[in-house]
Amino acid sequence: MSYPTEADLLAKIPTQLYIGGEWVDGENDPFTVFDPATGEELVKVANATPAQARAALDAAVAVKDEWARTSPRHRSDLLRKAFDLLMERRDEFALLMTLEMGKPLAEAQGEVTYGGEFLRWFSEQAPRVFGRYGQIPEGTARMIVSKQPVGPCFLITPWNFPLAMATRKIGPALAAGNTMVVKPASLTPLTTLYMVKVFEEVGVPAGVINVITSRDTAGVSDIIMEDDRLRKVSFTGSTPVGIGLMKKAADKVLRTSMELGGNAPFVVFDDADLDKAVDGAIAAKFRNIGQACTAANRFIVQESIADEFARRVGERVAEFKMGRGTEEGVVIGPLVEEKAVNKVAEMVDDAVAKGAEVVTGGKKGEGAGYFYEATVLKGVSLDAQVVEEEIFGPVLPIVTFADEDEAVELANASEYGLMSYVFTENFSRAQRMMDRIEAGMMGLNVGVLSNAAAPFGGVKMSGMGKEGSFEGIEEYLNTKYTAFPEPHTDK
Ligand code: NAD
Repeated sequence: MSYPTEADLLAKIPTQLYIGGEWVDGENDPFTVFDPATGEELVKVANATPAQARAALDAAVAVKDEWARTSPRHRSDLLRKAFDLLMERRDEFALLMTLEMGKPLAEAQGEVTYGGEFLRWFSEQAPRVFGRYGQIPEGTARMIVSKQPVGPCFLITPWNFPLAMATRKIGPALAAGNTMVVKPASLTPLTTLYMVKVFEEVGVPAGVINVITSRDTAGVSDIIMEDDRLRKVSFTGSTPVGIGLMKKAADKVLRTSMELGGNAPFVVFDDADLDKAVDGAIAAKFRNIGQACTAANRFIVQESIADEFARRVGERVAEFKMGRGTEEGVVIGPLVEEKAVNKVAEMVDDAVAKGAEVVTGGKKGEGAGYFYEATVLKGVSLDAQVVEEEIFGPVLPIVTFADEDEAVELANASEYGLMSYVFTENFSRAQRMMDRIEAGMMGLNVGVLSNAAAPFGGVKMSGMGKEGSFEGIEEYLNTKYTAFPEPHTDK
């Protein structure tokens, strides 16, 4: 690995809007992107007005027919070139994510791999979009079922995985022949801006991908959502914002994909391999400093092994090094902003007030930056905020259960249904849990499972639609049925 200096890297990152193939200034005053490990300014970024957001949609609409008529192979080749160039620049992308979002460099490298895979996967899917041809059952007519791009898309991404959340949407949208306006989170816009520069460099034509960054989030998104020419919105972020967007999407009957919040149960039975369960817990909880929608949120552990599990996890967590993600050996970087630290502190204090015991951690970091210690809590009450809400921080709360039915009841006692984890060596029990746990995804004896080839998405208040895999491109395609008379009777 060879990382550039931070100053050299920041000097080459675009900070303007990208509309119709031109990099342009925002018409509002630029806003600042901060390093969450120091609280210091990194750069200032263009701040789009609603009128500029409309201009971005104008650009996407202007080239939509031309882009839809390009060959799947051509789109595939562009995605593959973007993948190759991203891999060439992997160290730059990794460092950039660490700077603007705070995750340790090793994890940022992992996100380059994961995020890049969506480009490679959808470059492989672009030429594999097929329809079907058949006879209707009565034998009097034939049908063709064909696939068409949905039309201009609005892609809104969160701050926690600035690269992967963008490529997971841009990849399939592009592969399916759509044009788009992308809006990254204003806390971490730099990675997406640099990724879009990669698309520009490999030859994606002007207007196909447009990017707006703005502090007037509601203003810029409302004007796009209210426009009759928009045909699809894909959103990853919090459930309340997703619900607001779905209400607006209803007014225009938009195709909608929603990847929303989670509150993943992590269930450990007394027949589990405890080494695997402890490794899985560390990975499922502390990746991205706990700021992942897939993060294990509630550790539901069988009574007879709960103390042993808490002790072993606690010993590992107590060793974690906290610091700026660029430092060697750091596991716990900063949270994304001060508000997040205060929220996590409030949740831990609430759990302790309701009877939880702190096994390790439990305090804010000292000095500059937005740090909270990696924390393990045991004996947590079921009405504690850390159990009821998405924590989005490095806190591992343990509750206990007596038998399998109670484990299922506790696991399903959430409005969310995104990720779940189950640790058991009993195969019949594992299959029952697959059937009974209400979640879009399950890790069975494994703590990390996101993969571009797998369908990612939730049920209940965690959203609708799938990203990645074979399903991912379908979210960006309309299915059309064409009928014509039976050729042998139509003489
Ligand atoms: P957020 O909802 O605050 O913001 C997400 C995006 O929506 C940002 O780009 C933000 O600028 C934009 N936004 C905010 N208000 C808006 C509005 N009124 N109209 C249009 N856009 C608006 O979420 P966040 O804090 O960036 O991300 C954390 C949340 O995202 C967590 O709840 C997490 O679980 C969820 N998440 C889900 C997935 C998933 O795949 N299911 C993945 C990552 C994060």
